[in-house]
Amino acid sequence: MSNGVLVSPDDNCRLCGHGCLAQRSLGKTGLCGAGRKVGLASALLHLGEEPPLSGGGELPGGSGAIFFTRCVLECVFCQNWQISQRPAGNEVSEAELAEVMLRLEAEGALNINLVSPTPYTVQIAMALGLARKQGLSLPVVHNSGGYDSLAALRILDGLVDIYLPDAKMAPPAGADLDEPDPRAARLLGAGDYPKVNRQALMEMRRQVGPLQLDGRGLARRGLMIRHLVLPDDLARTTVFLPWLAETFGPTVHLSLMAQYHPCHQVKAHPEQFRSFPGLTRPLSLREYDEVKELALKNSLMNTFVQDLAAAGQYLPDFDRPKVFIN
Ligand code: SF4
Repeated sequence: MSNGVLVSPDDNCRLCGHGCLAQRSLGKTGLCGAGRKVGLASALLHLGEEPPLSGGGELPGGSGAIFFTRCVLECVFCQNWQISQRPAGNEVSEAELAEVMLRLEAEGALNINLVSPTPYTVQIAMALGLARKQGLSLPVVHNSGGYDSLAALRILDGLVDIYLPDAKMAPPAGADLDEPDPRAARLLGAGDYPKVNRQALMEMRRQVGPLQLDGRGLARRGLMIRHLVLPDDLARTTVFLPWLAETFGPTVHLSLMAQYHPCHQVKAHPEQFRSFPGLTRPLSLREYDEVKELALKNSLMNTFVQDLAAAGQYLPDFDRPKVFIN
């Protein structure tokens, strides 16, 4: 463990930006709902991630996705709400989690893709140690909402090969990052998201550098940032893209996601979101085209884009035996 930072489930938890200090080893649950044991919702070969992760063509293996339950954020439009915001899945030990990783490798996964891992950072680090000792050789992808604390990320230094964080919302243009952002508080459940996210992205980049692909086009190491474009520029994409280009340079790998669809609270209670009318509809083709143009204007040359017409097939349903359509 680097930097002398001691974080374990036995300590007051500060694995995410909330730093709620929950005594999880004593059976308490934190703001995110996570307790002592790892909540595992699903583990499968995922064909719908970006090509460097899921492969395709002659590389049909898919990404070995491990979906964890609970989440450190409370996005009102969460597409994974069935596992992030309500009890789901099973509780597993570190040894059982290591077995899941090894099973995915045996089934042909191209990597181990830890989805929404933040509350279980310590247990994941232990499980990775066990799995590596038993022969796990795949790159490990840390696929988080981008609200990880620096303490959590330092635990992962040297264990994670590829960081795949979200950048869900930029701050308002010219804002003081120390001031809470009311929009991030209302829509993501974290008023300090823009500040915590920027710090996390920079620490991730420091650890693993730019994305590196092997001869088959598969990611081996590095950073790729995901940004879900929201209608009416609610994620402040027009602030985010120039900042990204300026901070990480034009070669940074970016995945511009178009799959926004009203889900979870927005779908159940649209009347509560009258101040954000864009949330109650999908992204329009014109909006997505404008964002792609903005990426080009900022010379962001390594940008993955989605086919807007096929956006629905990227949405999971954890109540179905087959979570993804494709
Ligand atoms: S990960 Fe969960 S328990 Fe830990 S600080 Fe964040 S909200 Fe609290």
